[in-house]
Amino acid sequence: MSNSEQTLSIIKPDAVERNLESNIVDIFTKSGLQIVNKKKIHISKDEASSFYEVHQSKPFFNDLCNYLSSGPIIVMILKGENAVKKNREIMGSTDPKMAAPGTIRKLYGISIDKNSVHGSDSLDNAKKEIKFFFE
Ligand code: ADP
Ligand code: MG
Repeated sequence: MSNSEQTLSIIKPDAVERNLESNIVDIFTKSGLQIVNKKKIHISKDEASSFYEVHQSKPFFNDLCNYLSSGPIIVMILKGENAVKKNREIMGSTDPKMAAPGTIRKLYGISIDKNSVHGSDSLDNAKKEIKFFFE
């Protein structure tokens, strides 16, 4: 049975700054995820706050929004079989120290806040996040 999905991926400022776009894109495409749309943008703090709304009660919320708006990011729609779960597996754990070998966060993440990539955590959130950046 085919279960093609779309999910949202973001290459965060720390990874854009280190020119890791093509390395990260390669990891996705070699794992069978297709990039159906991609753009480089620089969002405002208000936009970052709106994107990360679910985290507004967390102690790290303000830093998180400052960080995501601190420089250019690359937002992408990934498509493929079980794309939401597959992307999360390819990304690795939130904290790069805990991430499995070969995952993007293990390879490139600097710290829990500068962890190089974002990925939608459910199909519902994937739809909302794609809409947020692409509609
Ligand atoms: P994920 O990005 O793996 O889905 P979360 O949704 O829990 O992780 O958190 C969103 C982002 O907030 C993380 O990617 C990370 O950059 C940041 N973050 C999460 N937990 C912490 C923390 N304890 N301290 C600082 N930043 C955090
Ligand atoms: Mg999350």
